[in-house]
Amino acid sequence: MPPTSDKKTKPTKSAPIHLRGFKDMLPEEAPFWQRAYSVASKLFSDYGFSEIGTPILEATSLFKRTLGEGTDIVDKEMFTFTDRSRDSVTLRPEMTAGICRAYVEHGMFNRPQPVKLWSWGPLFRYDRPQAGRFRQFHQLDIEIIGNNREVADAEVIFLSHLFCRELGIETTVQVNSLGSTEARKEYNKVLKDYYRSKRRLLCEDCTKRLAKNVLRLLDCKQPGCQPFIHEAPQLIDHLDEESKKHFVKVLEYLAESQVPYILNPYIVRGLDYYNRTAFELWPAFASQSEASAGEPVAAVSAPNALGGGGRYDGLIEQIGGRSTPAVGMAFGLERVVDLMKSSKVSLEETRPDVFLAQLGEEAAKHAFLIFEKLRSAGVRAVANFAREGLKGQLELANKLGVVFAVILGQKELLDGTIIIRDMENGIQEVVDLNKIADELKKRLKKN
Ligand code: AMP
Repeated sequence: MPPTSDKKTKPTKSAPIHLRGFKDMLPEEAPFWQRAYSVASKLFSDYGFSEIGTPILEATSLFKRTLGEGTDIVDKEMFTFTDRSRDSVTLRPEMTAGICRAYVEHGMFNRPQPVKLWSWGPLFRYDRPQAGRFRQFHQLDIEIIGNNREVADAEVIFLSHLFCRELGIETTVQVNSLGSTEARKEYNKVLKDYYRSKRRLLCEDCTKRLAKNVLRLLDCKQPGCQPFIHEAPQLIDHLDEESKKHFVKVLEYLAESQVPYILNPYIVRGLDYYNRTAFELWPAFASQSEASAGEPVAAVSAPNALGGGGRYDGLIEQIGGRSTPAVGMAFGLERVVDLMKSSKVSLEETRPDVFLAQLGEEAAKHAFLIFEKLRSAGVRAVANFAREGLKGQLELANKLGVVFAVILGQKELLDGTIIIRDMENGIQEVVDLNKIADELKKRLKKN
């Protein structure tokens, strides 16, 4: 879709438009993104997380090795190409693999454990574009690496819930346990046996999943597959003892920290590397209304989850590091921002108080420095340096709803003065140019 639906401004055939599944962040959206980023950086640094940035482009083998062949991402969604050195490279489809590569590569196991990290940036998946699903999207990612205790799982979930709450979004945590890798292998066999006789009744994707990644059958959204999902044997009944204990403790932490959760046996996550705790955050209104916190849900009915994650104890060893347990999660930021918009989150007041107008060439040359004087003194000022006539500038000031306009003309410049105009009553006063910031602050305080 072109960025505008206005027929008059529709680009001509030759004008370029963005690619399908990609989109521009327009200036009106920026305050929401900035708010989410500032809440994230404050919250996670308060809880001892450090920000990390990893490259958008990585060796293809990193993702194949960690996410697993047979997963939707690896099989059909990666933006993979050969670079000029004939190496196969991939635009990152998720962040955990890159962060774990960096953990191993930079010897972070020598730092005090656990290492708590957060990251923010674009990801790429060649998905079918639809509402809430893009080919370039953004995630906020948090990871606790180097701790196998339940408290780490609970901290990640608690903070994910808190992040949304600080943005004015209420969520419910949908939580499940995938057990140990061995227990899951056993369960996969049970599930395969169950589905084999129903093979001919499954959707096309599920038929493929049966051969490659049977757990993903539980994640199918096709209506025709739902009855089979409900009747399927549940992973929770096949958990190993240690994973069961781990899960119960995580739930105890959640209950104590008043995080609303729902046991959801259908949260399986799409990637190979997860074990034990797996969870998603759903907008509270989309969660099963009939299920109360802590009770198993009756249906899958997955809405567009805001984010999800889980424990991945084997991943770091898999990419060549020493055995290091870890847990993490990622939010889809387009979905978070959409909810911020629809829940009418109030953003910080950004309206300017003062408009700086200039008249004549000499005054225009001084305008940058005067503007900077105001800005660095903490006055919320705005100007249009490129505009010439005073009338037009004052009209603009009026439109912006500022309290004062300050006017610098040739005469004032020679006298070392400047005019302050009260925009409500039009009264003008001449003041010392050197004292302009203080004079404005005094008047704004009175207002
Ligand atoms: P995942 O990495 O698949 O577990 O996804 C975590 C979160 O990222 C999801 O809950 C979504 O909010 C978001 N997400 C995943 N894929 C996309 C996509 N193609 N477009 C937009 N957001 C996405």
